[in-house]
Amino acid sequence: MNASAIQELVRPEVPGLPPYNAGLSSEAVRSRYGVEHIARLASNENPFGASPVVGRALADLALRVGTYPDANCTALRAVIAERTGARADQIVVGNGSESILQMLCQAFLSPGDRVLTQRPAFGLHEIYPRMMGAKVELLALTPSLEFDIDAWCEALARGPKMAMIANPSNPVGCMFDAKALARLLDATPSGTLLVVDEAYYEYARVESGFPDALAMLRARSRPWIVLRTFSKAWGLAALRVGYGIASEASLIQWLDRVRTPFNVNEAAQAAALAAWGDTAFMERAVVETVRQRESMEQALRALAVPGLRIAPSAANFLFIDLARPNGPVNEALLARGIIVKPWKEPGFESFIRVSIGSAEDNARFMGALREILGT
Ligand SMILES: *Cc1c(COP(=O)(O)O)cnc(C)c1O
Repeated sequence: MNASAIQELVRPEVPGLPPYNAGLSSEAVRSRYGVEHIARLASNENPFGASPVVGRALADLALRVGTYPDANCTALRAVIAERTGARADQIVVGNGSESILQMLCQAFLSPGDRVLTQRPAFGLHEIYPRMMGAKVELLALTPSLEFDIDAWCEALARGPKMAMIANPSNPVGCMFDAKALARLLDATPSGTLLVVDEAYYEYARVESGFPDALAMLRARSRPWIVLRTFSKAWGLAALRVGYGIASEASLIQWLDRVRTPFNVNEAAQAAALAAWGDTAFMERAVVETVRQRESMEQALRALAVPGLRIAPSAANFLFIDLARPNGPVNEALLARGIIVKPWKEPGFESFIRVSIGSAEDNARFMGALREILGT
């Protein structure tokens, strides 16, 4: 066998898929640049991690590793249902919410179907639909780096099979309010499956004007699913748990047909249950992160770099236009042990996305940026 024989076998959709850009690992940066401390500000991770009760739940797990996990995440779905006001049969749990995005595409998209999302988008909102052969339409931001609700309404009215919208947006951080969501819902035909990705819900809900999407969607009879995750505010990114709340049980049943049977491992289920029981820990992390984000934003503005722009953010990161190519800045940051995400899509090569880390790491980032930009 050789590479070209393999290429004959691969599905036609696959060669066009970009590899997911997960960035450099801490270890890779440490060894390549010979730096001791690494500031991980590229993956929107929560610097405060998970509640200590998660550690205890994981220690108890040692006696249970020989048996399969609950294929239906019964206990976890029950507590999520209780707090969100959904029924357990409206809830799906995934190996990260990214895997629910994949299930949605596998269950609902065929070659040629149209999918609507934003540019710049969370990569998988574009990659998974294309994996199924769907055509993805990418809507631009407004010049002030906000959702273009008029453009969204127009495009939704054309009836795509599926629309994926992250509120707040990743990587931009911008959010839309209840009035905008009502307009989007009015514009959406009932044959469109609306996927509202609220990965940063716990951060955004403290912003004034952030819509109660679940309540607004429930008031309409149309297909929708809201996605949330334990990876960000709950601090469980390593364990991979996300969940979706859907308009009806039948939608979840179709996802059950395409998902792997034991898709959420025992550790992930136990940790998510434990974390869910300690809301206070999560809320403290959110408050501190929002405070840090606001002070980083002020410090960035104080640099007075000509052309520098910061997108409005309701999440745990900032999307920053450095008004110069991001490559050299990124290299100089890496050399100082600071990992951020330089954007590579056309039109955004001057942007970096910086996750809000610990106060120390944020200060390291700001100090480095001052040096690099010479301000
Ligand atoms: C981080 C993120 C996810 C994925 O979260 P996992 O649950 O870790 O898979 C999904 N959507 C958006 C917009 C994200 O930023």
